[in-house]
Amino acid sequence: MLEPFQTHEVFNQSPPFQDLNLFTTDRALMEAVAREGGQHAAQRLSQFGLTCGSAEALEQARLANENPPRLLSFDSKGARLDVVEFHPAYHYLMQISIAEGLHASVWEHLTEGGGARRPGASVERSAGCYLANQMEAGHQCPITMTNAAVPTLLLVPELAAQWVPKILTRTYDKALRPLPEKRGVTLGMGMTEKQGGTDVRANTTRAEPVAGGGQGAEYLITGHKWFMSAPMSDAFLVLAQAPGGLSCFLLPRVLPDGRSNALRLQRLKDKLGNRSNASAEVEFQAAHGWLIGEEGRGVVSIMEMVTLTRLDCAVASAGLMRLALANAIHHCRHRRVFQKHLIDQALMQQVLADMALDVEAATALVFRLARAFDRAEDKDEAAWRRLMTPVTKYWVCKLGPALGYEALECLGGNGYVETGLAARLYRELPLNAIWEGSGNVMALDLLRVLEREPETFERVLEGLGAEAGATATLRAEVERLRSLIKDPAGLLARGRDVIEALALLAAGALISAQAPPFVADAFLGTRLSRASGRTYGHGLAGADTRAILDRALPG
Ligand SMILES: Cc1cc2nc3c(=O)[nH]c(=O)nc-3n(C[C@H](O)[C@H](O)[C@H](O)COP(=O)(O)OP(=O)(O)OC[C@H]3O[C@@H](n4cnc5c(N)ncnc54)[C@H](O)[C@@H]3O)c2cc1C
Repeated sequence: MLEPFQTHEVFNQSPPFQDLNLFTTDRALMEAVAREGGQHAAQRLSQFGLTCGSAEALEQARLANENPPRLLSFDSKGARLDVVEFHPAYHYLMQISIAEGLHASVWEHLTEGGGARRPGASVERSAGCYLANQMEAGHQCPITMTNAAVPTLLLVPELAAQWVPKILTRTYDKALRPLPEKRGVTLGMGMTEKQGGTDVRANTTRAEPVAGGGQGAEYLITGHKWFMSAPMSDAFLVLAQAPGGLSCFLLPRVLPDGRSNALRLQRLKDKLGNRSNASAEVEFQAAHGWLIGEEGRGVVSIMEMVTLTRLDCAVASAGLMRLALANAIHHCRHRRVFQKHLIDQALMQQVLADMALDVEAATALVFRLARAFDRAEDKDEAAWRRLMTPVTKYWVCKLGPALGYEALECLGGNGYVETGLAARLYRELPLNAIWEGSGNVMALDLLRVLEREPETFERVLEGLGAEAGATATLRAEVERLRSLIKDPAGLLARGRDVIEALALLAAGALISAQAPPFVADAFLGTRLSRASGRTYGHGLAGADTRAILDRALPG
């Protein structure tokens, strides 16, 4: 019986996808974490998976995106403020991620007596980031940059002694105050200028030494950055032209004497997605900065920061792809069309299972890479880290947008409206491919390894060749890759062929060694034999799609 004023009953809609444990419902993730050295963290990640999948956290994520940050240039009397105001939901999310240590946990050994890194620290942190991105992606930008800034700061022991202990506190302190008064700090980075983002050597921002200059010395920096995200960070690692060439500087927001540093926030970007995060255009008017490394070695100084952020981009995309897929499977398990659940319709099974194969591969690749960051003292692992960072970032981040779109379509019209999750994921996914080195730049980085350190490439390929073992499709892929790089003439134009072939070979080798046969056979039978199409839902007619889907999201 309907209540008065109710015109109809609402039925055949899927219940909200929330209040689930994002860790324990993700078998590929749990297996990857255990395999790559993070098993010790399983219980903690299970707790964190509950937090990230809770209705409360997901509601805060919605609020943080529907109430984007605002730039406050001046106060009511006309004095400059240059601050960004965030909705409380953003601070709530930051507090969760920082309390979990995602902004720095891999560096905690530095204050624990300075011994060796904790084994599996990078795998554990990456798993946390994979989950936190599913909770909300925008706030992960300062989390990533803070973690990645540490090795660059360590280049100047006096600066590191002041800043690193404040990074490691696991306390989120959003107030702009001088460093000694802060209970915790976050860092950002400023490289991209109007005339060049990839080509940072074109930077025009100038740095003049206050006295003699040199490592750790103070400079005055004048110029601009076209993208500088998380502008309320406590400090930024910035590139500028010193007398000796392009150099890296630490620019705090608040100076040691309590005055604001001369960072003028001009405008916040109106972005396609990533709306909870602020990305500013900024000008520096003789802002105070301290030199990190030597003058002229700015790219070298900041390179480790860039490499660490590339790992995080790939992890973030894998997490977002996972959420898009799980949300689609959940919906199809509840939605009936023509008296049958969507999940039981043959064509929908093909589409969902096809996506699940890419999510499984993305997950395997990013945690294999995280392990290489944990064990870089081993030569094989160091080679994997160098070669497979651009390959993994390229491939995982490139798959994301297409998968996000297809997952959205599985929800029909609901997928296209902003009240659902799918639309936000779809708008977020292209970003990880763009920042920290976009697609072609990753392919060029791979070709640089081929040219300058062919032994690194050989070491990885030999390992993959050994793993290929008796699997004919993998052996054929090794040969295909070798033939692609054989002739140096035109190699530049084949950059994307090479990077995609290497990604597929690595993903295929990982999956065939580790995933159940119904996943491995389907992956090799479509991706490596090139039976898959340019859209999802092809080539799996003979596969056990139900088993693939049950594994992807236990029913
Ligand atoms: C939301 C957002 C936030 C950001 N936050 C920050 C930040 O906090 N700090 C910061 O420093 N930057 C930030 N960036 C900037 C980002 O890192 C750059 O946009 C990116 O590095 C690309 O630089 P660009 O925009 O100048 O493009 P370009 O360098 O002009 O590149 C354009 C295209 O050309 C391709 N390309 C470049 N070189 C070659 C080549 N030799 N051969 C073939 N193709 C090539 C690239 O792959 C790209 O597809 C942010 C960007 C976005 C979108």
